[in-house]
Amino acid sequence: MKKKLLKLENITFIAIILGLFFGYFFKDLALNLKVIGDIYISLLKMLIIPLVFASIFIAIVGLKNKNELKSIGIKAFLYYISTTALAVILGLLVVNIINPGSNYELTKDLTHTITPKEVSISDFLLSFIPTNIFNSLSNGKILPIIFFAIIFAISAMFIEKNKKEFLYNFFDSINDSFMILAKWIINLTPIGVFFLIAFTVAKNGIEPIMELYSYFLTVILALFTHAFFTLGIILYFFGKINPFTYFSQVKEALMVAFSTASSSATLPVSIEIAELKAKIDKKVAGFVLPLGATINMDGTALYESIAVMFIANISGVELSLTQQITIFIMATFASIGAAGIPGAGLIMMTMILDSVGLSAEYIALIITVDRFLDMFRTSINVWGDLIGAKIINQLINKT
Ligand code: ASP
Repeated sequence: MKKKLLKLENITFIAIILGLFFGYFFKDLALNLKVIGDIYISLLKMLIIPLVFASIFIAIVGLKNKNELKSIGIKAFLYYISTTALAVILGLLVVNIINPGSNYELTKDLTHTITPKEVSISDFLLSFIPTNIFNSLSNGKILPIIFFAIIFAISAMFIEKNKKEFLYNFFDSINDSFMILAKWIINLTPIGVFFLIAFTVAKNGIEPIMELYSYFLTVILALFTHAFFTLGIILYFFGKINPFTYFSQVKEALMVAFSTASSSATLPVSIEIAELKAKIDKKVAGFVLPLGATINMDGTALYESIAVMFIANISGVELSLTQQITIFIMATFASIGAAGIPGAGLIMMTMILDSVGLSAEYIALIITVDRFLDMFRTSINVWGDLIGAKIINQLINKT
């Protein structure tokens, strides 16, 4: 099994590289074959809802007692919030130093662009609570589903032992069969990523990157600094593992994140890799990873802060320290509220732009490179989740 996974990672890596060339040189074909990449994403997505629900439920109900839940819950929450905050601070630091867009000529006509729907703080708060769980399930609204799964599982901890066991076994069986299905779908990864990358390159070209290179490079530089320094150091000290060793264990999940630009779609792969290769307990992986895929997005948070500062720069607005603190707080929340799907970060950005008085229309300026940045930030999001799972696993097993 180990051998097979190892082989799959290498093939996936080659598929990404070949996909880049294919999309660049055979544009029409790549655009026409989009459906193959879409089928792969749909297959992964098909697993998300039942997997998230069942894995969170059994992770909580399977705990020895309520104290263990408190301990995993608090640790996961603290880890997520602190690394996200560190990511935003780093983003703001880097963007203030490099100052991308300060000499940019605003030539684009914004009057005809579509404005994304704005997101307000009350929408954000309400998005956690389902009014009808079946509605959330059928519409794939992950945040309310997680909220519901957690409180449902906690309530199940209080019922009679045999009834509790029945519920546990029921969801455990669902979870196990979905994990088997996940393994099958994971085998299709090289084919899926090849067509996804080819389509992205064929559709967007690489010209926008040249045009917005200072912004693009600022985001990439900050993302990599966060991934290798901040998270690397945290992993080394708290997880007691060399970041490079860990990277090579989980890289398959990062490649899937890169090509799908979706933390949620990557979730089945992350869970599989975490349990099988990173040797993380089922109960930790089953709770920490779905939660992380939904609310822990270091890459997104960091990117939001840089993008907003860039937009301020190109529109000639100087942001004060207080406004930058507002960005810090809002970017942290926006990343928690962003769904794990492509482009979610861009939509949440309207909330931050609004809070510092910038028009959401300016998003049109950065939209052209967004898919590429999305691929990088999603990989960092998933890397952050997997590091969180490893550290929490380590902390739980020590106590
Ligand atoms: N695509 C990202 C994710 O799924 C979210 C974002 O747009 O930043 O993690």
